[in-house]
Amino acid sequence: MRITFYGGAQEVGRAAVLLDEGPRNVMLDCGIKLGEKTEYPLIHDDELKRIKNITISHAHLDHSGYLPHVYAKRNQPRIFLTKPTRDLMSVLLADYYRIHHGEREQRKLFSSGDVERVLQDARMQEYRETFNSDFKITFHEAGHIMGSAMTMVDNGRKKVLFSGDICMRKTRVLDPCERGLHADVLIVESTYGAKTDILPSYKDSYQKMIKIIRETLDKGGHVIIPSFAVGRAQEVLLALDDYMRSGALPQTRIYIEGMITKAMKIYRHNAIYANDDIKRRILMSEDDPFNSPNFHHPRSKTREDVLKEPCIIVTTSGMLSGGPVLFYLEKLAGDPKNAIVFVGYQAEGTTGSKVIAGERQIRIKDKEIKINCRVERIRLSGHADFNELLQFVKGVKGLKKVFLMHGEKTDLKDALENQYELVVPRLLDTYSI
Ligand SMILES: [Zn+2]
Ligand SMILES: [Zn+2]
Repeated sequence: MRITFYGGAQEVGRAAVLLDEGPRNVMLDCGIKLGEKTEYPLIHDDELKRIKNITISHAHLDHSGYLPHVYAKRNQPRIFLTKPTRDLMSVLLADYYRIHHGEREQRKLFSSGDVERVLQDARMQEYRETFNSDFKITFHEAGHIMGSAMTMVDNGRKKVLFSGDICMRKTRVLDPCERGLHADVLIVESTYGAKTDILPSYKDSYQKMIKIIRETLDKGGHVIIPSFAVGRAQEVLLALDDYMRSGALPQTRIYIEGMITKAMKIYRHNAIYANDDIKRRILMSEDDPFNSPNFHHPRSKTREDVLKEPCIIVTTSGMLSGGPVLFYLEKLAGDPKNAIVFVGYQAEGTTGSKVIAGERQIRIKDKEIKINCRVERIRLSGHADFNELLQFVKGVKGLKKVFLMHGEKTDLKDALENQYELVVPRLLDTYSI
């Protein structure tokens, strides 16, 4: 079997890894890299035509965003994913289509019809149930966002485990990723691949967040929490609601904006994929954590009302590249009473990363915004940190060979090299396994 990295090698974004063996093949993920300009997997159209199967580990666009492009090139490979991944992809791909076609200079690379066909054709698979494509494939829980999956590919002689994005901690909503699987080869994410990438516990992070929110509300200020639509937003919202119920936070309105609302509905519909605490709350009581009375959904007409009294606003986009957060920044960021609390990953070069680095005059979509308010960052990641990645790799049984992808730092290589054959692949390189 051969393995080729069309994206995601020594970078975060555009995950696309091909496993092939003669006429049999499967592409693991099919993502894009979002940044100042969008980057695609480096796969030639002719090669793309050969691909018969694609598995999608989870809905984030860096793992799924290239699918409509594939369909636009008149290829219709079989697509395999979990149900929450399909549902969340419908929101994220529709948004990608909207933004993509809003950009003036973009060529028309795919249509909304291509997005629809991807969603219609996608075949939904359950965790731990093996299905046949060209190979035997099984999804296992990855703990990263709802429906996220690790992908086990078995060609009859070798087992290859593709981690996708993994989280090793139990979160408000999800169980951690499955451990102790058996594989000969592991392709593992390494977002936190530097030895300094050690994350605080969720408890410590949330306590820090609560303190900042309390201090801001006490002063009569507003708290803006910029967030991605899928993943961190649901975790943070359920935590805020819990702290309000327990009295750790004062009763305040929590406003939810942007695609987060749609993603919350999908989380609720797929609650069977949540951890037992959530399922119990929904099944055994009337207490539905996704529809808490503390949550409010302003319409564009009522946005001005949100500004009137102290409150918490959780809104897209997470890296301040656009979305409703822009409106709130314009109105609120100039006032030192208010606070911006970042909770998610900030890619280099994004406005979010600049604000965290101390820039106080920003420009978003032709608007100058002055930041005089408090700026804080809470580390609440949906990824395994450096130590957890080490643990994860060491927990895979029978493992011989490890490919590190989805990361820019490779200290993990040094830490694991004496135990496994370790590869930090380069883009477009092919390896035999
Ligand atoms: Zn992800
Ligand atoms: Zn990712």
